Amino acid sequence: MQISTQYFQLGKAFSERTSPVPVAKPELLLFNKVLASELKIPYEQYDDETIAQYFSGNQIIKGFTPIAQAYSGHQFGHFNPQLGDGRAHLLGELTDTTGQIKDIQLKGSGVTQFSRRGDGRCALGPALREYIMSEAMFALGVPTTRCLAVVATGEQVYRERPYAGAVVTRVAASHIRVGTFQYFAARKDTESLNKLTHFAIARHFPEIEKEHESSQGKLSSEKVLTFFNAVAQKQIPLIISWMRVGFIHGVMNTDNTAISGETIDFGPCAMMNNYHRDTVFSSIDKYGRYAFGEQMTIMQWNMTRFAETLLPLVSDDEEQAVELMQPLLTKLHQNLTDNYMKMMAAKLGITNMTSEDHTLISALISLLEEQALDYTQTFVKLTQSTLDESLHHELKAVLGQWFELWQKRIAVDKTAAHALMAKNNPLVIPRNHHVESVLASCQESGDLSSLHALLSVLKQPYQQLEQTINYQDAPIDNDENYHTFCGT
Ligand code: AMP
Ligand code: MG
Repeated sequence: MQISTQYFQLGKAFSERTSPVPVAKPELLLFNKVLASELKIPYEQYDDETIAQYFSGNQIIKGFTPIAQAYSGHQFGHFNPQLGDGRAHLLGELTDTTGQIKDIQLKGSGVTQFSRRGDGRCALGPALREYIMSEAMFALGVPTTRCLAVVATGEQVYRERPYAGAVVTRVAASHIRVGTFQYFAARKDTESLNKLTHFAIARHFPEIEKEHESSQGKLSSEKVLTFFNAVAQKQIPLIISWMRVGFIHGVMNTDNTAISGETIDFGPCAMMNNYHRDTVFSSIDKYGRYAFGEQMTIMQWNMTRFAETLLPLVSDDEEQAVELMQPLLTKLHQNLTDNYMKMMAAKLGITNMTSEDHTLISALISLLEEQALDYTQTFVKLTQSTLDESLHHELKAVLGQWFELWQKRIAVDKTAAHALMAKNNPLVIPRNHHVESVLASCQESGDLSSLHALLSVLKQPYQQLEQTINYQDAPIDNDENYHTFCGT
């Protein structure tokens, strides 16, 4: 195991050195052995009790130094200068088999100086939910943080009523957020901002380090701009793949925006059934700020806040710094729009997109909304229709002339169209009603077999396995009364 504590070594301004608060009776519920192997964790040497001690925070693996990271964030548009890890401990980093450095973080591991009035804990249901959702997202091909373990604490947490508690271990390319930069920018701590930027470049964009002469001193404005652009461009595949699979993050605050471009924080997330851009499930998102169809706009809003934090590093003259930054935001907008269209075209089996294809895509989106069609199922049927003509009648009935136009468009090479569609249209997604029913059954019985059954299907979302059919159905009420919550 290759352990490091690079973030801790950045110094006191960046984190609080603090230990997890021990839990009463740690019990290992889930352990991601494939991920553990990638992280070179010699888990075979340990029994489940020992692993539970390590990933509850009761014992610290030698070499780690637990810390709580400091960060700020815009929450629903309002800036909060003091957030930070209120119930999480970053143990340190592990270098994986490919040489990548990954953060290992416990969540639900007790209070820190950033806890405010919170209890520092996490309930079991949301911990299991994060495990299911992040594994599903990974298998769908979405950039995401992952879960290494879920350990029951043997203690109760109170969220209106008592629930079983748990600690979840999150693995991430890093936990550096837009909010981390905002923390120092808000304090006008340019020295720490400079240090954080150096660190982030070395960690996530070593190619920038190589390209621009590197030193630990003042960053060149060119280097800072290249860094900003790299972070912004990393958000494109992230949001585009959310749009591809119907994922609604639910709380795209800047403290939940990782500069690595990974999905982070699964608290109020949900999957869309019937296509509608206004779809929202989060109980606190009253105005639909983070609705399905707003996600591309919000990402750009978040990147604009990120750009603002870097202005002092770009130039002492703010006006000039803005002038240099602006084209990169324009480029982000353009690339995002282009990539969105490319992604939708791929869902329809179309390569070499023309402007007529834009019209075809927009027309389908209008139809999906007007007819309240299930997003996943419709694309699965369209995919199958390239091989199976018996589906044409049904599709023509709902999509009318559009279906014929599309048929004509892909007629040149239906085999190629099918291959492209099969890669881009999952057969199964982690449907809210299935995830919730599995969580309820696990919590009632203490038996995780239904969770493992669901996971085995979600791990191969582009393959029709024997059990896949059990999880493909849309909820009868379109999840009309389904609400999600923030507190993991
Ligand atoms: P989140 O909603 O998970 O993005 O968290 C937003 C902020 O609230 C972060 O600073 C968290 O660390 C903090 N927080 C959330 N839940 C708790 C809790 N139970 N105890 C302490 N801090 C919390
Ligand atoms: Mg968060």
